[in-house]
Amino acid sequence: MHRFTLVRLPTAAEAAQRVAAAPQTRRFRAGGIDLIDHFKEGLDAPDELVELRALGGAEGERMRGITEHDGVWSVGALVTLAQLAEFGDFGPAFAAIREAAGSAATPGIRNAATLGGNLLQRPRCWYYRHADLECLKKGGGQCFALTGDNRYHAVLGGGPSFIVHPSTLAVALLAHDARVHVVGPKGPRSLAVAELFSPPTVDPTREHTLAAGEIIVAIELPAAGAQQRSSYAAAKEKQSHDWPLGEVAVRCRVEGGTLLDVRVALGHVAPIPWRAREAEAVLEGKAPSAALFVQAADAAMAKAKPLDHNGYKIPLTKGLLRDALHRATGVAIPE
Ligand SMILES: Cc1cc2nc3c(=O)[nH]c(=O)nc-3n(C[C@H](O)[C@H](O)[C@H](O)COP(=O)(O)OP(=O)(O)OC[C@H]3O[C@@H](n4cnc5c(N)ncnc54)[C@H](O)[C@@H]3O)c2cc1C
Ligand code: SF4
Repeated sequence: MHRFTLVRLPTAAEAAQRVAAAPQTRRFRAGGIDLIDHFKEGLDAPDELVELRALGGAEGERMRGITEHDGVWSVGALVTLAQLAEFGDFGPAFAAIREAAGSAATPGIRNAATLGGNLLQRPRCWYYRHADLECLKKGGGQCFALTGDNRYHAVLGGGPSFIVHPSTLAVALLAHDARVHVVGPKGPRSLAVAELFSPPTVDPTREHTLAAGEIIVAIELPAAGAQQRSSYAAAKEKQSHDWPLGEVAVRCRVEGGTLLDVRVALGHVAPIPWRAREAEAVLEGKAPSAALFVQAADAAMAKAKPLDHNGYKIPLTKGLLRDALHRATGVAIPE
C-alpha cells in the first residue's frame, strides 16, 4: 500500500488552499470508501490526504449538520448515508432522499460513506477499475466498453465514454432541484446540482465541474409545499452490497387532481444523473393515472440507444418509473 500523510487543518478555507496548491498529489478524505478503494485497486496514489472530518469553523459545523430555516433544508456534506436514511424530519416531501440513502450499499458502508463523497465517487466501469487498462477516462485512446462487455453501461447520453454515474444520492437530489454549496481557494459559491455533473463530451476523464481544491460544504433543498411528495425506486442484482442496474427518483405535488412541479430523474442509465424532461412534459398538468404513467415511462426512454448487452435497462427503467410514480401519487397499481 502506498504511504501517505493524513493532514488535519482547522478551516475549510485552509483545506481548500492546501489541495489547490498540489492537486495531483493531495486529496480530500471524507468517509474514505471510494478513496481507499482507488488505492487498493492501484488507480491512485496521493502523498497527502486532507481530513475533511477534522474541519472546524462555521463551514466545518455546517458540513456535519442537517438544519432547516424557513422550510429550506441544509444537509452537510459529511452527513453519512445512514444518518440521512434515518432522518425522519424530512417527511413525505423529501421521501426520495431518505429512500435513496437507505437503499445504497450496505449498512456498514452507509455508516461511513458521506453525502459529499457519494456525489463525487468515481464510476464503477470495470475497464476503468482495472489498473492495467488505459481507457479514455484515464487519458487513453479508446472506450473498451463500446465493443466489450457493456451490460452495466449507458443507454442515454453515452459517448465517448459510456459510464453510468454511480451516485444514488445524486438522482434523488436532482429530482429535488437541490443546490450545492462549495468553498474553494477563491471563496464560496453555489450551483444547481445538475451543474455539478459533467458529461463525457466535455471531458471523458472527469465527472464533475468542481475546480481543484473546491470542497462541497452542504446541499440545500428548496422549501416544499405541504402537497409535495417524492419517491425513489431501484433494481439491483443483489439487494445489498451492490450498485443499482437502474434507479428513478420522482418529485411532484397533486393539487385539484392535477400533477404539478413534476421532476423525474433517472440513474444508472447515463454518464450523468439524467433528468427525463420528456416524461415530465407528459405528466405536468395532467390527472395522475396508471395509463398516464405508462406514457411517461415510454417518453422517458424513447431516446435510449442500447449497446450490445444493456437493452434490458429500457424496460427495467420504465417499470421503476411507473413504480415511483404510483408511490409518489398514491394511484393504485392496476391488478
Ligand atoms: C459494496 C459497495 C456498494 C455500494 N453501493 C452503492 C450504491 O448502491 N449507491 C451509491 O451511490 N454508492 C454505492 N457505493 C459507493 C459508496 O456509497 C461511496 O463510495 C461513498 O458514498 C463515498 O463516500 P465517502 O464519504 O466514503 O467518500 P470518499 O471515498 O472519502 O471520497 C470520494 C471522493 O470524493 C472526494 N470528496 C469527498 N467528500 C468531499 C467534499 N465534501 N468535497 C470535495 N470532495 C470530496 C474525495 O476526495 C474523493 O475523491 C457502494 C460502495 C461499496 C463498497
Ligand atoms: S465507459 Fe468510460 S470508463 Fe468505461 S471503458 Fe469506456 S471510457 Fe473507460
